[in-house]
Amino acid sequence: MVLATAAVITEHGADFVLTPVEVPDPGPFDVRVRIRAVGICHTDIAVAGGHRAVPTPIVLGHEGAGIVEAVGAAVTSVAVGHRVALSFASCGACAACDSGHPALCASSLALNFGAQPQPGTPALRSPDGSALYGSFFGQSSFATHALVRADAVARIPDDFPFELAAPLGCSVQTGAGAVWRNTDIRPGDTIVVNGVGAVGLSAVMAAVVSGAEHIIAVDITESRLEVARGVGATRVVDGRTEDLRDVVRRLAPAGADAVIDTTGAPSVIERSLEALRLGGTLAMIASGRGDDSVPLSRLVGKRVVGVLEGDSVPSHSIPQLIALHRSGRFPLEKLVTTYPFDAISTAIADMKTGKAVKPVLVMPD
Ligand SMILES: [Zn+2]
Ligand SMILES: [Zn+2]
Repeated sequence: MVLATAAVITEHGADFVLTPVEVPDPGPFDVRVRIRAVGICHTDIAVAGGHRAVPTPIVLGHEGAGIVEAVGAAVTSVAVGHRVALSFASCGACAACDSGHPALCASSLALNFGAQPQPGTPALRSPDGSALYGSFFGQSSFATHALVRADAVARIPDDFPFELAAPLGCSVQTGAGAVWRNTDIRPGDTIVVNGVGAVGLSAVMAAVVSGAEHIIAVDITESRLEVARGVGATRVVDGRTEDLRDVVRRLAPAGADAVIDTTGAPSVIERSLEALRLGGTLAMIASGRGDDSVPLSRLVGKRVVGVLEGDSVPSHSIPQLIALHRSGRFPLEKLVTTYPFDAISTAIADMKTGKAVKPVLVMPD
């Protein structure tokens, strides 16, 4: 067991408070990771705000990166001292996992949002014995240490910065995977990306890698559109003042080949469906509010797919993204702003205002 420091919310809507927690020794299939950096993702903020029911008090955080400091008896894939990025949990045994789609694992919701460890993995504990929940996305990495299944970590090179590795395990692989695995984007194509936070910007970079000719980024925050331009958007659209349909019509008269939506906003989705060509794909990443609707007539002749983690296999996608970054084709560093761990509230506030696209918390030495 190690006594760690974690950012705990005691109830939905409460601030994160740095609190001592006990992180147990690994079960047979687990590794304990000394977290060095952890990204903040919109899902953390949504869950903290009560958007999805998880028990409290809980340790959130699901974009951890760090150094393996203990391994379970059955672990052979990583060893103490290895540097790793952490990703989502999957069961490893269902039909989806078995066919190479762990993001679509039949137990995905239970394992990532259920706040209960997988069988054989010990739970986080509070030093005073009071209730404490963890296992968020199988990791709960808003903490100096995290217990995670070995199959949910990917090794990273010794010289690759933790603050760039952290967001690979969720937002970056989600945006990139949406383009690469959930659409048929080919060289010369036209793609629209609605909302250019970290996920949307990752989609923009993936579209560049895929050779798309027109990469149209839509947002209502000028600073984020600026970043989108910097990572390869060929056209930016301020959704408040420009009509996406006109922009697309001028560049690709038949319509866009694909739309990646990270907004979940029905009016934005409806406009993008009108800008999408027949046979084109709308890949929806945001989960929306639950009572949203878009007229079915807009779907005639179009494909719509709901994206989960970009259908990524983290042990493949994370090294692939690192290799692209090294060759200069995936400029991740333009997304990341670092904050000390104890500035988590400032980091979240900056993410909400758009001052930071991808805040990454860096742990003290
Ligand atoms: Zn599974
Ligand atoms: Zn996430």
